[in-house]
Amino acid sequence: MKLNHLGIAVKSLKDAVPVFEKIFGVKATELEYVEEQKVNVRKLHLENIDIELLEGTSPESPISKFIEKKGEGIHHCSFDVPDIFQSLSDLKNGGIELINETPRTGADDMLIAFLHPKSTNNILIELSQHKDK
Ligand code: ZN
Repeated sequence: MKLNHLGIAVKSLKDAVPVFEKIFGVKATELEYVEEQKVNVRKLHLENIDIELLEGTSPESPISKFIEKKGEGIHHCSFDVPDIFQSLSDLKNGGIELINETPRTGADDMLIAFLHPKSTNNILIELSQHKDK
């Protein structure tokens, strides 16, 4: 398992992207809209990890709700797994509560699934697998 990206909840990509581009010295990717999560996403590819900036596009977006409750900041940590279905089944059998029992489609056309923070010391962990793998 390998850390793929950190998801960061921001109120405004327009305001946040220039700040993160300045900090990391790379240009963010083009904007991608993920319908299922109602978020706009722009990523910064660093040497061994991506920074995923997330902006909710509706009050019902999980990102908008997160910001309302906790403010901007780190929303989730995403880990690459070779077989997300296997990982979810193993974790569930091991007593870890899942938010997504079956994977969904996230940014970059990845399969993603969230573990429940209740089971993970309040850290929102995302598992991800590239569809072509
Ligand atoms: Zn993510």
